[in-house]
Amino acid sequence: MACVSYSFDAPVSQTLFDRAALVTPGGVNSPVRAFRAVGGTPRFMVSGRGPYLTDADGREYVDLVCSWGPMILGHARPEVIAAVQEAVARGTSFGTPGEGEVALAEEIVARVAPVAQVRLVSSGTEATMSAIRLARGFTGRAKIVKFAGCYHGHVDALLAAAGSGLATFALPDTPGVTGAQAADTVVLPYNDLEAVRAAFAAHPGEIACVITEASPGNMGVVPPGPGFNAGLKELCRDNGALFISDEVMTGFRTSKAGWFGIDGVEPDLMTFGKVMGGGFPAAAFGGRADVMAALAPVGPVYQAGTLSGNPVATAAGLAQLRLLDDAAYVTVDTVAERIRTLVADALTKEGVAHRVQSASNMFSVFFTEDEVRDYADAKRQESFRFTAFFHSMLAQGVYLPPSAFESWFVSTAHDDRAVERIAAALPAAARAAAEATEPHDAGARA
Ligand code: PLP
Repeated sequence: MACVSYSFDAPVSQTLFDRAALVTPGGVNSPVRAFRAVGGTPRFMVSGRGPYLTDADGREYVDLVCSWGPMILGHARPEVIAAVQEAVARGTSFGTPGEGEVALAEEIVARVAPVAQVRLVSSGTEATMSAIRLARGFTGRAKIVKFAGCYHGHVDALLAAAGSGLATFALPDTPGVTGAQAADTVVLPYNDLEAVRAAFAAHPGEIACVITEASPGNMGVVPPGPGFNAGLKELCRDNGALFISDEVMTGFRTSKAGWFGIDGVEPDLMTFGKVMGGGFPAAAFGGRADVMAALAPVGPVYQAGTLSGNPVATAAGLAQLRLLDDAAYVTVDTVAERIRTLVADALTKEGVAHRVQSASNMFSVFFTEDEVRDYADAKRQESFRFTAFFHSMLAQGVYLPPSAFESWFVSTAHDDRAVERIAAALPAAARAAAEATEPHDAGARA
């Protein structure tokens, strides 16, 4: 950060960050955690309870990241911890089938009608990677369609015009993905059905699948326009391609049945992660029985995992999902609405151009007054205002995602006290956003 220095005291985190940088690239195990988009010292967290995180310097924050979505019941929810303790005491990995994974699969199938069968994996990346392989194997076609700004994990073929960390760093592509790996990926603007129609016309009989975030959260929150997902489904059906809805972020978060529970559009395949793991590495892909039957050991498409269906992860995920009843979603949706309103009111009061966009309880704040319908719109925002806003909130004990291109996440544990703390921090943060000026090096980082 050339212009603004955010070096207020986090000495223990800073020491840990210095140590980490010696042994880990950039000092982090996932790029967005490094605070590169906003500058300053990433906070090293030591514990979490309910809506709060505590850092290594002993400072407490209201957490509006919730581990990037999974912690929908808040941190260290006693029932989830108890389920984990019970599972862990019985052993941590067997490399055999176990009842916990059957129960988790049954819970997913019961919640999400288009999922007749599901295969458990360990990360969202693995889920989308496997779903695409399956779609290619099932259709015998090579090409895939994805949308700019949609992030599906760091799958080689999907790292073209992805959002999330790549939106933060504005990398159009990444070294290490070969031309051959990316050549079969067609990247289209989000919310543009005409572009999808044109792609099918340009590549007749070649497109295996269209993959989309069910409701994108990785370029900030940009919900599908009316009829967009239904249009994708129809175009896929008419052209013999599979429609893959990536619900790694929205699954079991935006409703009991994820985004499918909201728009009712039936995908051929779906991917899940985050909430279904209860804070552990568990993810899944699933869908039509005839498509899933193409997977080994039934069919010829290979897919496997040493830790897939891990007993501790499945116990955590199952405990979390079982607590997520209708009332829990009402609680999360209500608190999200309260926070959205508080943020919008504070920014309006300071005359800051902004737009709060939401998809049920997921939301994000764009520093522009124009509607954001795709990645190009998202990139037009004044993200330098977010930087100032972020650091003011952080200094006042509210932990936001350290990028203007991410969804904010809340939990059932965000109670009145947590909301009041956010409300108290907002006026100064909105003022900081109003007073922010574009850094001279914006072009280098933007
Ligand atoms: N798909 C979506 C929509 C995501 O948001 C993410 C992660 O943020 C992924 C896939 C990748 O999941 P993971 O980070 O578990 O590999």
